[in-house]
Amino acid sequence: MNSKRAIAQLLKHLSGVGVTHVPRVEFPKTPIQKTEAASRGSGVSVAAGGVAAKDVTKAGRKSPKAATTVPELRRPTSGLRSVEELQVTDANRPEALAEVQELLKRELNDSRHKQEALCSLAAVVAKCRRCNELATTRKQTVFGVGDPNARIMFIGEAPGADEDSQGEPFVGEAGQLLNKIVAACHLRREDIYICNILCCRPPGNRNPLPQEASNCREYLDAQIQIVQPEYIICWGAVAAQNLLNETRAVGKLRRQFFTHNGAKVMCTYHPSYLLRNPSAKKEVWEDLKFFMLDLGVELQ
Ligand code: SF4
Repeated sequence: MNSKRAIAQLLKHLSGVGVTHVPRVEFPKTPIQKTEAASRGSGVSVAAGGVAAKDVTKAGRKSPKAATTVPELRRPTSGLRSVEELQVTDANRPEALAEVQELLKRELNDSRHKQEALCSLAAVVAKCRRCNELATTRKQTVFGVGDPNARIMFIGEAPGADEDSQGEPFVGEAGQLLNKIVAACHLRREDIYICNILCCRPPGNRNPLPQEASNCREYLDAQIQIVQPEYIICWGAVAAQNLLNETRAVGKLRRQFFTHNGAKVMCTYHPSYLLRNPSAKKEVWEDLKFFMLDLGVELQ
């Protein structure tokens, strides 16, 4: 199917699910550069037990094996930041999600199609009330953000209070720590697609109930289907166990690759856990060294 015809068909389907316009998207052509932190050599204190990320970044510049630039982790496009620009009139029709999913079966190869498909899915999620308690107590749904064409997807547990307020995953204290981990790995947050098992905040930050995770799974699967990441990192037991249908503790799942929908999946501890147990930072750093090595970046 040529691209003009594909876009026309996509717009027709979006119109059918109630999306009357989509945000304008620019496609920067700038090649990937090393992170600002890496450029300055000013790492962050992520690892524990004497393996500070600052030392890792410096060692990275000295070692012939260590990378000073990240590999091509991002197929250029701008990230999906908000669905506020959408004028959704009827996205909560029962057949809206089915129509979006039908659309996704055909249009997954173009960056613009991915962006628009995520927008239409986010609009459906914003109206979702499958989980009665969560739909009643949330301020807003928290859909995935980042590059629709990312090679790496992060999956966390569920929005917390900060995420519920701001409508974006991983923006609270745990999110700040995640940003530091990303920088220490010579990655950029905007090159990664970040989402959660649940799109709504459980009251009191309790763990998602199995039924809630099941209710929201369709949206997670659709995001994976659209982004088609090569790598997925599951942060914490809730993400790992739900995505992989596992019952083992995350400590038994970490530092190895599983496969899911063609993506390599690695599990590690959630940044919130690291805030409560700083000694586990060393373990997470070892996991990320293992992960980055598979990407061709040897961290020290
Ligand atoms: S958690 Fe997911 S399935 Fe449940 S109400 Fe929110 S968006 Fe819907």
